[in-house]
Amino acid sequence: MLTQGVVAELRRALDPADVLLDRADLISYSIDGTWLEGRPDCVVMPRSAEQVAAVLRIANRERIPIVPRGGSTNLSGGTIPLGGGIVLNLAQLNRILEIDTGNLLAVVEPGVLTHDLDRAVRKHNLYYPPDPSSLKQSTIGGNVAENAGGLRCLKYGVTSKYVLGLQYVTATGQIGRAGGRVIKNVTGYQLDQLLVGSEGTLAVITEITLRLIPRPRHKRTATAIFPTLEGASGSVAEITREGIIPSALELMDQSSIRIVENVVRLGLPTDAEAILLVEVDGNHEGAMEDEMDRVAAILERNGASVQRAHDEAEGERLWAARRAVSPATARLKPNKLGEDVSVPRSAVPAMIRRCREIAAKYDLLMPVWGHAGDGNVHPNLLFDRRNPEEVERVQFAAAEIFEAAVSLGGTLSGEHGIGVLKREFLGLAVDPTTVGVMKTLKRALDPNNILNPGKIFPEGGDGNRRVPVHLALTGPGSGETVNTTSAPIR
Ligand SMILES: Cc1cc2nc3c(=O)[nH]c(=O)nc-3n(C[C@H](O)[C@H](O)[C@H](O)COP(=O)(O)OP(=O)(O)OC[C@H]3O[C@@H](n4cnc5c(N)ncnc54)[C@H](O)[C@@H]3O)c2cc1C
Repeated sequence: MLTQGVVAELRRALDPADVLLDRADLISYSIDGTWLEGRPDCVVMPRSAEQVAAVLRIANRERIPIVPRGGSTNLSGGTIPLGGGIVLNLAQLNRILEIDTGNLLAVVEPGVLTHDLDRAVRKHNLYYPPDPSSLKQSTIGGNVAENAGGLRCLKYGVTSKYVLGLQYVTATGQIGRAGGRVIKNVTGYQLDQLLVGSEGTLAVITEITLRLIPRPRHKRTATAIFPTLEGASGSVAEITREGIIPSALELMDQSSIRIVENVVRLGLPTDAEAILLVEVDGNHEGAMEDEMDRVAAILERNGASVQRAHDEAEGERLWAARRAVSPATARLKPNKLGEDVSVPRSAVPAMIRRCREIAAKYDLLMPVWGHAGDGNVHPNLLFDRRNPEEVERVQFAAAEIFEAAVSLGGTLSGEHGIGVLKREFLGLAVDPTTVGVMKTLKRALDPNNILNPGKIFPEGGDGNRRVPVHLALTGPGSGETVNTTSAPIR
């Protein structure tokens, strides 16, 4: 419990100014990238791993929930303090400690912004590829804890591929190191990879050693407008069969095209069923040109009208439609449930068709865009939280989207994580034995369940929900409260 004595202890362990209790501060730490809210009892802003360890020792003794927080841009309710407790804001641990150009690696603190790291390594002609669209606000610590992806991950892989080693602090306040600075490492369990994607539930990450790669010197961009969705998906399959791995292969469905055109008027054809945006990159300009020739031929064979960029500025213009789609949705409805189901690449058209049926069934605006090349599809359910009847339709629709993804051989989340929003569905995608193993790990590493309690694991049943989850849409104005405890996980 957060007594005055505990607050005094926290103030002694940290700089007293780094312990926040003002109502205004607590309100600002109540939110994340969703619309959920939960007020913490206190916010602490440590400046070293030792300070993080001291906070965790106190919290573990007092059974106070700890919510690690980076940029708080997550889309799963991951940094919402469901049952109060302490928000551990890691933003002050924001130094790039080392860029080792000989060994192609960087060592960073968790609060470094993703964009700042890529900007720093660019000066050495190096590249840190994972690029969530939130990269100017998200932190490397948050990217690791969510195993973030992005546009370039089709070719270059998601965050986990770049994690070589981590310093971490356990729930009981001990500091450890997992992995290291080497490419090959099979010395014991790969604990560093276990912590990747653990959503702040297993340990707090206080330092990260990341692999870097040489920066590709050239890129070529094209957009392809398709009269049919099948043409777009046929192209994706054919590009893959040709042995070409684009650095980006993004898809927008008809509903997304219409929304962008209504709001920003880029001259997009609103009768087109899909737009594909393709980018290839590499070091040899001639090879890039040749690769894009082959891609363009495939796109045209599948019925597309293709526009190719002749320089970088033109390439940026071609990206405008894709970049406009998310902000454009905000002009239509105040709230958005941005799902990120992941299906085998060949199932993308079936998934999009299913989304279209679900949108019609529940009479919802649901533009779908996403990373067609890696099967990560973003159905975006637009709604107004003040309309309970619409909220209910969104909940039913989300449940059907998850079921569709799993029945197509896919899963609930490709990059946003489970957090609170998808926790009641975990059992749809993960078998009971595996959920049991995950819970055993959680109990072993966090016996008092203080680390981000209420996230990932279902609270209300067996995680096999086939009915709407009202909890998923709680927040101010909904008349409901989010509830969880830090009781040990069963
Ligand atoms: C506009 C927008 C676009 C987005 N686009 C993408 C995208 O393209 N791809 C993608 O993958 N995601 C995307 N996201 C989601 C989000 O940006 C990512 O999940 C990102 O990795 C979160 O980073 P963060 O620093 O904001 O973490 P936070 O939101 O602060 O935290 C995320 C989770 O990590 C935990 N955590 C944070 N830091 C630590 C730490 N040091 N140790 C242990 N646990 C920690 C938190 O407890 C929480 O569970 C987008 C979000 C927005 C708002």
